[in-house]
Parts: sequence; structure tokens; C-alpha cells
Amino acid sequence: MRPDTFDVLRCPYCGGRLSLVESLYHRRGAGAAGEILDGILGCHCCIFPVVDGIPVLHLLPAATTARDQIQAGRADLARRTMFGLENDEQAERFDAVASSATATYRETVEALGPNFEGGYFLYRFSDPTYIVVQAVVRAVAKTVLGGDRRAIDICGGSGHVTRSLLDLSSAPPVLADLYFAKVWLARRFTAPGCEPVCCDGNAPMPFARGAFGFAMCTDAFMYIWTKRQFVGEMERLIDAAGAVLIGHTHNERTWSPSHGQPLSPEGYADLFETLEPRIFGEAGLFDDVVSGGPLDLSRRETADILDKNPALTIIGSRDPRVFSRHPLDAPAAAEGEFRINPLYTVTGEGPLMRLRLGFPSSDYEEEYGACRRYLPEELTLDGALVTSLESGHVSGELLELVRRKVIVDLPKRYY
Ligand SMILES: [Zn+2]
Repeated sequence: MRPDTFDVLRCPYCGGRLSLVESLYHRRGAGAAGEILDGILGCHCCIFPVVDGIPVLHLLPAATTARDQIQAGRADLARRTMFGLENDEQAERFDAVASSATATYRETVEALGPNFEGGYFLYRFSDPTYIVVQAVVRAVAKTVLGGDRRAIDICGGSGHVTRSLLDLSSAPPVLADLYFAKVWLARRFTAPGCEPVCCDGNAPMPFARGAFGFAMCTDAFMYIWTKRQFVGEMERLIDAAGAVLIGHTHNERTWSPSHGQPLSPEGYADLFETLEPRIFGEAGLFDDVVSGGPLDLSRRETADILDKNPALTIIGSRDPRVFSRHPLDAPAAAEGEFRINPLYTVTGEGPLMRLRLGFPSSDYEEEYGACRRYLPEELTLDGALVTSLESGHVSGELLELVRRKVIVDLPKRYY
């Protein structure tokens, strides 16, 4: 945990500032920054543990057990507790992977057991939901952050979207989520260097008023029960020029897989008290992205169109520049590394490589099959061009393949 994170952190229950309890067990990093690796944080009302550099600001059973273990000087056991590792054998297997400098995201996820992350994370960066969310996040965050303000991703899980904020947030973006293992993975792999905080989305958020220029929650809001409090908290966390974004939340009026407890479009609008939100159907934004842009956030959609959209995007901001037409990013340099999309089977070697699109399951195909709008069924690539991906830079025809997600920018050591 970075020492400057204390500036934005507050107790979720008393609202007081938090500080390291120097008299209790703690461990700092060796570097000049003096980050906190393990320790106990105190406020007016409570104490919370920092486990493996991650403040745990809730009082669910694992957190209180881990807090007792840190106080007893057993940071190793506290980490096992927060990862939910059930027995010594599983814990030892995970510790071995976690301490390896060459282990991949995939290997680390597998060491956490079969129930941890489902099987689809490999394809996350090219699924239709993701490409819309990423485009909207980039457009809005770039507009409001202006190079000197910070972003927060709430309920951001393993950081797949947080990653889109790394180059836009002045200080590293904060990633808040209930699941310790996910934010830990995000800091190490998916959004390297982000600042993770473990907290409960159904409780008041452990951050200071106006600490951020951009607050977002994507692909998770329909699972939040305390929606009114959650939106009130997002409004509280941003400053007057900031923006709130709720991306890919389901629509009560239209069925979708993993439905959650969604609201109607006007139900979502009523959650906002200090900002006037604008609501977009995901289908129109998807068309914008597939056609190469611009992403039109100036559009006003009719109630009828919104009712028919299975997923909605909600944006609240006083900055009129947000609600305009935004060109899409076309990055020629990889944030991680350029790889052929793992949905493709590659055959042939040398001068010509043949790529054929396939899906890991019929469930995947049903939920994400719209990726056929930009992923061709088959294509042939010049092997030398593919080898040039290793440089981390693309140009010419490869740029178009990056845009269409045939080539994806994956985190380093992803699989
Ligand atoms: Zn407190």
C-alpha cells in the first residue's frame, strides 16, 4: 500500500482518517517509497489489516481472522486466509506459484482452484461487452481526468477494465473490490501498479469526498443490492468537474444471461441525486465501436430503444465535453504484449499462417457470439508480420487487426 493512499482512504463506518498503528506488528517495503506490506490501520472506531500490501476495509469473517493473524505477526497465515485457501496442501501450492517470478496469470488462477475465475478470462479482452466498456471508459476518463486527477474502479474484480485507466490516472488508479484474490491478481498481472483496496460494495465506500475525478463500476452494478447508497457514494467520491460511469448494467425489461437484480432505465436514473445521468443502450455504442468510431455520447435515446437494450451504460457529469462524439483510440504500442486472439486456432508455419475462429463452449458462443461482427471466421496472415508483434509495436495492416481484436493487447505473462 502506497503511503499517499492515506490521503484518499477513510473508514467506511466512522469516516475518520486511517493511519498505521506503529505499536502493532507491521512490515514496510525496502524501497524509498516506504509502502506498507503488512500491518494494522486504525481510525476513530475500528482497526483493519493490511495484508500483502492491500488494506482490507470490511469486517467480514475472513477480514477479522486475518486482522488477528497480522496482530500475531503471522502475515503468511493472514494472506492464506484472505485468499480462502482451505488446506495446507492448497496453500503451499499457491504460495509456490505466488512467489515465482515467471508464473502466469493463468497458472496463478489455476492454483486458486477450479471455482475461482471461470474459464473465460482468456477471452475477456475481445468480448463484445468489454470492447464497449473499454471505449466508453477511455472516452470519459480522458475527458475529465486531464492528466492531474485520479480514477477509481469500484467492484472492478481482477482489473481487466482498470487496466484502461493506467495511463490516464495521475496517481495509480484505485481498484476496489470485495474479493482479495482478484485485486491481488490485478495488481500483479492485469493492471500492474494499480492500488488495490478490499472493501464491500454494499457498505459505505472507504474513500474521502471528492478524492477522484472519475469513478466507475462496470459489469457489476446489477449485483449490488444497496444501489441507492452505491450511486450516492459514487457521486460523493468525485469532485465537481468529475464523472461517474456505470457500464454494462442489465435492464430489468429485457432478459440477459447472469441477469442479477437489474432496474429499469428510469429506475437507474432515479438513483442519482446530485447529477443528472444520461443513459445509453449498449447496442448503439457497440455499433459505434465496431464501425471504427466515433463513439457518440451526444446521442439521446428514446425510452423505447432503452427498454429493448439488454444492457445499459449510465454516465453522470457536469462536464458537457463528456456528452460529445469521441474518436476511438488506435494504440500502436502494446500496454502489455500483442498476441493473436486465443479464440483463433493457428495452423501453418513459415510464410503463411492460417487462423480459424472457434469458441470455448456453446454457452460462450451464445453470450458473446456478437464478436463475429469484428472477428473474421478465417484469415491468412504473413508469418513475418506475426513475428513482428514481439516488438510491442504495430503499423500498417496490423493496426486494423488490432482494431478488430484479431490481435489483442494482453497483460504480460497472462497465459
Ligand atoms: Zn472508523
